[in-house]
Amino acid sequence: MDITVVGSLNMDIVAVVNHMPQAGETVKAAQAALHTGGKGANQAIAAARYGGRVCMVGAVGNDTFAGPLREALEAAHVDVAGVIPKDGSSGMALITVEADGQNRIVVCDGANGLLTPADVDHACAKIPWPIGSALVVQNEIPRETVRQALTVAHQRQWRVLWNVAPVVPMEVGWLGRDDIVAVNESEASRLTGKDVVDVESARLAAQRLMEFGPGMVLVTLGALGSVAVSREWGTMVIPAREVIPVDTTAAGDTFLGVFAADWDGVSSPEPSLQVATAAAALCVTRSGAQNSIPQRQEVITFLT
Ligand code: ATP
Repeated sequence: MDITVVGSLNMDIVAVVNHMPQAGETVKAAQAALHTGGKGANQAIAAARYGGRVCMVGAVGNDTFAGPLREALEAAHVDVAGVIPKDGSSGMALITVEADGQNRIVVCDGANGLLTPADVDHACAKIPWPIGSALVVQNEIPRETVRQALTVAHQRQWRVLWNVAPVVPMEVGWLGRDDIVAVNESEASRLTGKDVVDVESARLAAQRLMEFGPGMVLVTLGALGSVAVSREWGTMVIPAREVIPVDTTAAGDTFLGVFAADWDGVSSPEPSLQVATAAAALCVTRSGAQNSIPQRQEVITFLT
């Protein structure tokens, strides 16, 4: 599949500490590391490692993180011609992880917050993907830029996969009948105002989100798997693969990127949901974010 991802690139700065500092306190980190991330970049890499041809549209700053953020995408064979340099810092996530695994995250949008609707227009105009290819977008960029990405996709007749994360209010009229909305259980809860804790509550939430006009809603449920409700294909319940979890970071991004790379938009989405579920399961067996996203051959081997 040919895929355009419009979204964020972040440098994750991760420090492992014994306890979180109180106000005014300084603590030493047992270890610290830099990891490339951002939902947009993660989903682009997941789709490309699965074999999709991927163009990334996003923004980086004019700082030392810009190079590594682009290079991580290029290493996965993602086209970065649409990654636009901006004055200021790149997107950053400051992540503190305690010994028991609890984490606290401070996100600075940086360049992601400067990606404009006009940037999306210019970058997408140079992307040659045909009618029927896919656009994947999340909410770590400005709302009006998300809106423009949806508009461009509709003009080009690209299928939309909108990962409504972080949650922003959804509006009727933004989505077409071939579009897909994807959320995890906490996002589904916030969007519908009802707790989503299991397959049945996820199905009900998906049905409510269908009222915003998409053709399909995907709700992921961590170790419980996922539920899809589709106008054309009905309800599909996909249990997670049983694995020993090590680190669930990027599981959702792997799931969506691989689904976008596998589904042709015409045949039943269920086999592609199974493939995405297998890829996400492989991701949770490894620590890290982008480095834990599997290659296509690993997914195929896992499935056979
Ligand atoms: P993240 O924010 O950590 O990237 P998410 O909250 O967006 O993840 P999840 O719902 O946690 O997304 O996971 C996405 C998919 O990954 C699930 O639908 C499931 O298929 C798979 N998955 C997640 N956790 C596990 C697990 N413990 N065991 C097996 N598969 C899992």
